[in-house]
Amino acid sequence: MTTFEHAMFGANLALVTGWTRKQGWGLALMAALAAALADWDGLSILFGGEAYSQIHRVWGHNLFATLFLGAMVGALAYLAFLSHGVREKTRRWIKDLNPLQPPPYSNASLACWIFTGCIASISHLPADMIYSGHKEMTNWPVKIFWPAHEQGYVLPLVAWGDLTSTFLFILAMFAMYRWPAKAQAIAFLALLAVNAYIGFCWLGGGIAR
Ligand SMILES: [Zn+2]
Repeated sequence: MTTFEHAMFGANLALVTGWTRKQGWGLALMAALAAALADWDGLSILFGGEAYSQIHRVWGHNLFATLFLGAMVGALAYLAFLSHGVREKTRRWIKDLNPLQPPPYSNASLACWIFTGCIASISHLPADMIYSGHKEMTNWPVKIFWPAHEQGYVLPLVAWGDLTSTFLFILAMFAMYRWPAKAQAIAFLALLAVNAYIGFCWLGGGIAR
């Protein structure tokens, strides 16, 4: 999956819970960031091809890093979202966000944001394992237990960069823009459609590869 689909997958995961109704749009925005963040290890390209080949899809693409980052992003984003200044700056950056007042600080809300951050962040791993087939490239196993274990896992059902899921998520985005009150149902349908597409590829023996 590319960064866009990872982010959309995370945002839809948060929306489908319905928790954004109480916690606000910040929860979905945070989940989008958390779901895409594992690709930070791709920045190793700045240190050359050798570093990139050893670090990319390893340092950020494991359970330990994704859990840690997801929890950190969830907690920090929650505290930031409570700030009126941060919310208003974000609304200037992304128009049409609801100017709602989030509920005052509570440990239960903090736990909700951390939990959502962790789930969204971890979703990056199976997504990369599934979206990793390519007819001109070798599969790219994900070392989910690194650094404890070097074993990589891959289930290449859909081609990396496949546009069907991108299209489905864009469709969902427009539908949510048109019917914001139906965001939860639209997120459910979007996730269902993407999973059905993966299932379709699976049945077809990796038809999209
Ligand atoms: Zn990745």
